[in-house]
Amino acid sequence: MPPRQTQIAGTNAERTKAHNRRVVLGYVQLSDGAGRAEIARSSGLSTQTVSNLIAELEHDRLVVPAGRRRSARGQPPVLYTFNPAGAAALGFEVRPDALLSVLTDLAGTVLWQAQTPLPASDPETVFALMADLAGQARAQCEVPVLGAGLVLPGPFGVEGLSAAGATVLTGWQGFDDAAAQAAEALKLPVIVEKDATAAAIGEAMLGAAQGLDTFCYLYFGAGLGLGVIAQGQPMRGAFGNAGEIGHVIVVPDGLPCDCGNTGCLEQYTSRMALRRHLAARGLLSPDTPPGGGQTDAVAARLLAVEDAALDAWLNEAARLLAPVIGTLENLFDPEAVVLGGALPDRLLDDLIARLDLPRGSVARRRDRARPRVLRGASGRMTGALGGAALVIHDTVTPRLDPAP
Ligand SMILES: [Zn+2]
Repeated sequence: MPPRQTQIAGTNAERTKAHNRRVVLGYVQLSDGAGRAEIARSSGLSTQTVSNLIAELEHDRLVVPAGRRRSARGQPPVLYTFNPAGAAALGFEVRPDALLSVLTDLAGTVLWQAQTPLPASDPETVFALMADLAGQARAQCEVPVLGAGLVLPGPFGVEGLSAAGATVLTGWQGFDDAAAQAAEALKLPVIVEKDATAAAIGEAMLGAAQGLDTFCYLYFGAGLGLGVIAQGQPMRGAFGNAGEIGHVIVVPDGLPCDCGNTGCLEQYTSRMALRRHLAARGLLSPDTPPGGGQTDAVAARLLAVEDAALDAWLNEAARLLAPVIGTLENLFDPEAVVLGGALPDRLLDDLIARLDLPRGSVARRRDRARPRVLRGASGRMTGALGGAALVIHDTVTPRLDPAP
């Protein structure tokens, strides 16, 4: 079957060579072996252009020849396949209290990983540590590292929202600044992305959202974020801050939030809210860090014994989340809404099972192939893996609007 990407045509203009390279590599990656003439036909590129790019990609070990296809007449074409072991990608997720790092091959297989407590989360401290960790990672691996994905909670450059609170970083000016400084520290190309969007891209490449073109991803970090992938491309908004769903008001005059609102969703449905709920009932120390694994471990244990306090929290979290999921469905018409991130699998499964989803939703289709809500990959490394996935995505996916 021809890969899905063929509708994105290439161009022969010299300035879009990088774009054409992505078209060719993306085609090969999604095929089970493709010849040069086939790639040229599907992409609209000349056979010569495809041959040049294949030679370059073969030199970079990103594609490898894989025998010849039997053909009725003439010399059978050489087939090329994607070589995921030919290069590696780094992913870093910065949390307020920890730096999570992974090195993967181009299939997302983890080659190395580290979880490092952060003494401070200002950019200077984080970049110095990242440079050190990148050196350790690169020492483990014999293939080139194509780049790094830097995953941040955001938002940035917004009055109030980025000023304070347990779920945001302080001292960070914006995505562009962070990308330039990280590239300087790592001596590598760096892509910066919000945690929820990075995790959504990771989920589409390697997880529960494989094969989905349009989906919403609710990311449980310390707070709650949203990544929207529409027709295979992330929706970032005008300033890269799209998806701050944690600050949607679900309880008028409800609990105060650091953003200045009252009754924000993440005050009820997030890991931070869970930690506070358990701490208020003496089940967890109030000093437990928001990004720590301690909340997860305690919650998993309470779930196993059907603890009443956890049960009450899950009911409330599900009650407030369900209409928000209905809203996402009606706004974006996704193939599914995926829940993932830094909560234990069993807790997310339990939360999903409690969702009483609205009946009035465009998602209620007779021909649905999947449930409306899916559980994605979860665990502490989800965001960092999403960071590495950004680099892989950027390597193999042509942009709809190729930059000059
Ligand atoms: Zn808020």
